[in-house]
Amino acid sequence: MTKHKIPRGTYDILPTESYKWQYVQNIFREVAKLYNFKEIVTPIFETSALFERSVGDTSDIVEKEMYKFSDKKGRILALRPEGTASVVRSLVENNLDLQPNSSKVYYMGPMFRYDRPQKGRYRQFYQYGIEYFGSENPLVDAQTIAFADTFLKKVGLKNYNLEINSIGNSNCSDDYDQALVNYFKPHLNELCNDCQRRIEKNPKRLLDCKNKTCKSFAVKAPSMLEYLDEECKIHFEKVQEYLTKMNIDFIINPLIVRGIDYYSQTAFEFIDTNLGAQNTLIGGGRYDGLVKQMGGRDVPGIGFAGGFERLLLSMEAESISFGEEQKPNIFLVTLGENADEFAPSLLAKFRANGIASEFDPDKHSIKAQMKSANRINADYVLILGDDELANDKINLKNMETGEQAEIALSEIIAKLKEKF
Ligand SMILES: [Zn+2]
Ligand SMILES: [Zn+2]
Repeated sequence: MTKHKIPRGTYDILPTESYKWQYVQNIFREVAKLYNFKEIVTPIFETSALFERSVGDTSDIVEKEMYKFSDKKGRILALRPEGTASVVRSLVENNLDLQPNSSKVYYMGPMFRYDRPQKGRYRQFYQYGIEYFGSENPLVDAQTIAFADTFLKKVGLKNYNLEINSIGNSNCSDDYDQALVNYFKPHLNELCNDCQRRIEKNPKRLLDCKNKTCKSFAVKAPSMLEYLDEECKIHFEKVQEYLTKMNIDFIINPLIVRGIDYYSQTAFEFIDTNLGAQNTLIGGGRYDGLVKQMGGRDVPGIGFAGGFERLLLSMEAESISFGEEQKPNIFLVTLGENADEFAPSLLAKFRANGIASEFDPDKHSIKAQMKSANRINADYVLILGDDELANDKINLKNMETGEQAEIALSEIIAKLKEKF
């Protein structure tokens, strides 16, 4: 028989690891509630044109990394490489901007990019993110950043920096693009192929190229901050003012442009200061033109996204606890034919009363059953023999203290409910 292997660049979240994922996901949901964001769930595939149009056809994502395929009717589809495009598609399609309480959303789920797999980077990866539509107010930028900061603080991370930048809007960023072209043009032959190709279409992308030589030019490139017009300048100053008011520390880094075409004004990244090269925990920014460009009304928006893989690595590096692995409240050990027969109805009652219960279907000796209970890490073991059953008794053993007590079987549920 052929043993099947998991596809390259993917991984299983195993039962012994899943509690860590649930832990951080629960915290993300909690923070969403604190900021009054609601969950949106979109399909993991969309028409390929959606991403080509929104993410931008000069981005790495669309140029090289998209899982694109046609279905049996010849529709050109793509596995989503990121979350924002789908959310904007849904916003436009469902007029969410006109409905009360529907313009602040969060999402979690798998995304897909055909990329060279490396530590912490996969072809199917899990992201969390938010989108905040409907206001150009810099207060909203600060709130979006604060959401991300609250989340990182709540999961317990300490060693990270917030870096912010403004990449201007259409009124001022064209001048800046021209300045970048003028700056990079004389060095064109020394730049990587991607940068040579992008210089005309999207010169800002040259600022975040990972190539060493490109990087050495990028650090000395003119800064967008010197090209911001009055409106963008005030906006960016206000964002900083609000962050300071909320006691959120930040660093201004003019090289943060984000790798996607749709951004404008505020761009930000939360950087892990422990890890090496792949160190962005969360990236985000404003995208005021995107909704209109996608056929919607002129609705401004801002959002961020982060990867759970990177987050878990950072948490492990800081030895942060993920809470406890899931375990049952009780383990039921039975001895004798009548007790065995009685077990299913007793287990059903426990579960109906919210008591997480386990048993061993195939072990018959008391010793073997106790061993299972130990391995599973149950809080309590209940021991029921034929004699106890006949006399309305059951034994309750606290597995942590070793303490044991005989309790009336008819009262066991009430007793356990006090404990859990
Ligand atoms: Zn501007
Ligand atoms: Zn380059």
